[in-house]
Amino acid sequence: MNKNQETERGELTRFLDELQLLKKKDNFRTLPTLVHQGKEVIIGGERMLNLSSNDYLGLANDSGLLKAFWQTVKPEEIKFSSSSSRLLTGNFAAYDELEATLSSLFGTEAALVFNCGYHANTGILPAVCDTKTLILADKLIHASLIDGIRLSDAKCIRYRHNEYSQLERLVETYHKEYEQIIIVTESIFSMDGDEADLPRLVKLKRKYPNVLLYLDEAHAVGVRGTGGLGCAEAYGCISDIDFLVGTFGKALASSGAYIVCRQVIRDYLINKMRPFIFTTALPPVTLQWTSFVLRHLAEYQEKREHLAAISSNLRTGLQEKGYFSASASQIVPMIAGESSSAVRMAEELQRKGFYALPVRPPTVPEGTSRIRFSLTADVTEEEVKRVIATIRPVSSK
Ligand code: PMP
Repeated sequence: MNKNQETERGELTRFLDELQLLKKKDNFRTLPTLVHQGKEVIIGGERMLNLSSNDYLGLANDSGLLKAFWQTVKPEEIKFSSSSSRLLTGNFAAYDELEATLSSLFGTEAALVFNCGYHANTGILPAVCDTKTLILADKLIHASLIDGIRLSDAKCIRYRHNEYSQLERLVETYHKEYEQIIIVTESIFSMDGDEADLPRLVKLKRKYPNVLLYLDEAHAVGVRGTGGLGCAEAYGCISDIDFLVGTFGKALASSGAYIVCRQVIRDYLINKMRPFIFTTALPPVTLQWTSFVLRHLAEYQEKREHLAAISSNLRTGLQEKGYFSASASQIVPMIAGESSSAVRMAEELQRKGFYALPVRPPTVPEGTSRIRFSLTADVTEEEVKRVIATIRPVSSK
């Protein structure tokens, strides 16, 4: 070892030690290299059914849809970069078109598009909160929302997951102390696949003039509502949600994110939201593709119904094997407990041709490592039956 390598090792010891610790707890992560072929993935020469994708409607694999899209754009006009932020020269007409489509579909005054859901959630909350704001956030919200809260000046209290009597008590206790209270939740939760009680949240919000609702529909848009607009559409409460956020990278087979909201909120975000202001805009071709998919979203009711049916079959199958969860959606967790058990279960499923992945801390709380099945509409009933058949009952472990 030469002197340079020695000093480098010394400087890197803390990183190496930390990684060693992660390995010891089976929480070390690496990036898999995979080849996608329709609903299957090939890893290390092994072909498996992809049960870990968020392509909930199967649109990312729909070659017919892609072909139809290419017919709508002129090759010489395709742009893969916007080369600037939106406030400078990156605000292509494709943005106006996409935002007009969003606000027309949702029936809102305005819409604003962001580069991704992570940007949306880490940017909106810091922009709209100050020290006179109290955020009441569900205990199981996504990391991007937690990071947004951390970056904001608001005080935050986390309420127990979906425990609305606690939330109601908190609102009652604090509504006079703060200028505004923002309740932050997902509609379908990303790791448990269960659902927030939107009608109850809306009822609560309506009781107080200074209570606002922030709803992340990343896992519900495309999947819920007859138009595929999410749970807020399904429950008829779009206009009650002050910050209605969703992403394009899952069921919508694209990338980016949106908020549909009142005009004043849009104007405010354009002026105040740092991840909106200080980033290069999305490529115009991505925006065009997103608009194209959005315009077709209402047509996919059959896919949504099929997805609901196979998800219900998987949930029932897992329950019969002794795995219980609160899932009410296409995200179906199979709780293993320790990370080592989740890793072993994933390996076994993969040996049998099913690409299911372990989800471990810090993504989920300690002791709740799991397999997170994430079903897509191109999975068949037969395939779900085969998955269930390969799972050993809890009692046999
Ligand atoms: N919100 C939720 C609930 C999510 O699950 C995710 C990503 N998994 C995001 C936001 C972030 O969205 P994006 O991937 O577009 O950054």
